[in-house]
Amino acid sequence: MNFEGTIVAAHGRQYRVELADGETLLCFPRGKKSELACGDHVSVQRSGDAVGVISSVAPRSTLLYRSNLFKQKLIAANVTQIIVVVATEPSFSDELVTRCIVAAESQDMKALIILNKCDLSDRVAPAIPTLAPFEKLGYTVLRLSAHADADALLPYLSGQTSVLVGQSGMGKSTLTNALVPDANAPTREISEALDSGKHTTTHATLYRLDANSALIDSPGLQEFGLLHLSPKAIEHGFLELRPLLGQCRFRNCCHDREPNCAVHAAVKSGDIDPRRYAAFRSLCTEVG
Ligand code: GDP
Ligand code: ZN
Repeated sequence: MNFEGTIVAAHGRQYRVELADGETLLCFPRGKKSELACGDHVSVQRSGDAVGVISSVAPRSTLLYRSNLFKQKLIAANVTQIIVVVATEPSFSDELVTRCIVAAESQDMKALIILNKCDLSDRVAPAIPTLAPFEKLGYTVLRLSAHADADALLPYLSGQTSVLVGQSGMGKSTLTNALVPDANAPTREISEALDSGKHTTTHATLYRLDANSALIDSPGLQEFGLLHLSPKAIEHGFLELRPLLGQCRFRNCCHDREPNCAVHAAVKSGDIDPRRYAAFRSLCTEVG
């Protein structure tokens, strides 16, 4: 007999699947190759007490993943919103933020940025200019402190399946614990105390917030390869480029050094932020 369920934890080839009645089964995929992600809707067959085999996966509304020349890594399936978590310290990469957002735009997901650790008040001001280009484009940048109060995030989570992404150390797990009281997501202090990597987030976990909202905590990432995206998808991922597309002299303009390039002109006039443009070029070179 088949049961329908949702993958609520993805750990290597082991998946925890939550069935409609709330029961969870530890499941393995049928066959060798497993390309499943947290958030996937699957059919499972029981193979014993609290264990099962995943027999099929339903078509996904969205799939967030990263890829480079060597591997591709699924992050989450069927999410509607990506929440990029950065912090006042340690310093973060704005190019990584852009890459997360491009991944989101390529799947028509909403994107939201959190500047965490705003309780470190003297560290807030230096982080603001780095995030200003994103705010100017219309992305919400929520300033909060997961230690103090994460409630400002609640209205944005309502009705969404959101995934928290970002470099490790930014406070994703602390945020998860603040929002989901019984999550017990391992945070950095614990791992430092035990001096092992075991207690940081190593796999994605889905938490139910209410009947219509869920939150997925994902492992920290230092890079976000987007080799799977087409040059068109990358252009589309930059909101500020969209109105300019088709206005360059050459139809196949790469917006690099071509003459009469509308994008270049916008960078020159200050309409496009130079760091966003640099991130765009870096992505173009990567998929080039
Ligand atoms: P993750 O790797 O993104 O999951 O980050 P963690 O949640 O493990 O947090 C990394 C470190 O930042 C831990 O020492 C947390 O206690 C600390 N941290 C998280 N949120 C805040 C915050 O709002 N303020 C301050 N001051 N520290 C925080
Ligand atoms: Zn151009």
